[in-house]
Amino acid sequence: MEYPGNLIVVAAPSGAGKSSLVKALLELDAKLAVSISHTSRGPRGQEQHGREYWFISPDEFRAKVERGEFFEWAEVHGNLYGTSRAAIEERMKQGEDVVLEIDFQGALQIKQLFPYAVLVFILPPSWEELRQRLTRRGDTAEEVIERRMANARVEVAQAHKFDFVVVNAVFETALFDLKAIVHAQRLKYASQRRSKSAVFKALDLP
Ligand code: 5GP
Repeated sequence: MEYPGNLIVVAAPSGAGKSSLVKALLELDAKLAVSISHTSRGPRGQEQHGREYWFISPDEFRAKVERGEFFEWAEVHGNLYGTSRAAIEERMKQGEDVVLEIDFQGALQIKQLFPYAVLVFILPPSWEELRQRLTRRGDTAEEVIERRMANARVEVAQAHKFDFVVVNAVFETALFDLKAIVHAQRLKYASQRRSKSAVFKALDLP
């Protein structure tokens, strides 16, 4: 499948700072839109239906899977998460660039469907720092932290399959890196050909 817009996929273990980085990136770049996923988990804290996620029941989720409504889906930490076609197809057709903030399993599925998608993995600077960040979140029990740390090891072991790696030691530096990746992605020949097809046509470029 090929659309004029770019697809930027960002994955990271929980606590690496992915959500904050993506949020800041979107604030800086009006041409980027984030895809709102569906999940079978319930809302946490201030989360709202249709803002952070579309919250649906496990049965509704499975029905959507059966109907082929997801580009990708995965079970993460015991809950189901998926990227619906409707969420991103229309935007990419319009030439908008879409960011997917998903887990590594979903990211690898997206790369199969859209080989031109750019996969970015956010790493914490160290295991100690990751543990501290998870602990600083405050509301998490020791057992939950241990489980997230164990999951993080599995997730980080997949980073070599990604196109880019950003180490989030200093937030501003990591944000700069992420911006640079998006910018470079837009300047690739294939991307320019998709987004500036009139120019390419006028210049008789293949
Ligand atoms: P949380 O429940 O903490 O919001 O998210 C848990 C994990 O699920 C995160 O790594 C998040 O990026 C991932 N996730 C969120 N949406 C999707 C999705 O649509 N597909 C996949 N594969 N993972 C997702």
